[in-house]
Amino acid sequence: MPSKLVRGSVMNSKKCSQCGETKSVDEYSPRPDRPLGYHSKCKECVKLYRNKPSVRKRKQKYMKRYHQTHKEERNARERKYRSESIEYKLRSNVTRNINYYINNNNGNKDGKSVFEYLPYTQTELRQHLESLFTEGMSWDNWTHDGWHIDHIYPQSKLPYDSMTHPNFQKAWALKNLQPLWAKENISKGNKI
Ligand SMILES: [Zn+2]
Repeated sequence: MPSKLVRGSVMNSKKCSQCGETKSVDEYSPRPDRPLGYHSKCKECVKLYRNKPSVRKRKQKYMKRYHQTHKEERNARERKYRSESIEYKLRSNVTRNINYYINNNNGNKDGKSVFEYLPYTQTELRQHLESLFTEGMSWDNWTHDGWHIDHIYPQSKLPYDSMTHPNFQKAWALKNLQPLWAKENISKGNKI
């Protein structure tokens, strides 16, 4: 049923069930689920109703309870998003690094995914690094001036030109990776 049609003509105005005034349909919120296709109360009356202290209070109470009951759910979702985005960043960072070393040794990665060649997943890499966080380390300071992913035995001493090279596996073994503050990493240089 075309909701705007009333007695064969297009409805341009209607009476508000609250204030009783006849107003243009533009003064009503569309409600496709209603027979006339519009809210029974005009926007003005709806606004007045919503701004009533008792109604506002009830709404606030409802929202508060809603937030409380959905807190766990929301936190879990946020943790999931966050770890997924960390893992995405880890992947691109590690890929960029490996590309650099392979290209430096005139090799070619052939566009293959690094995690296909590593014996661990992005999640396992994230968890490994997290387990070695020292005081003050978090994913928020995994930055140029914060901490870096350090190769305990330096990657530069383990040249590789492909991801099947044994040195690649040694350099990127989980037990060879640790989070290290940028300052210590730079002073460490290539020393072992
Ligand atoms: Zn009204």
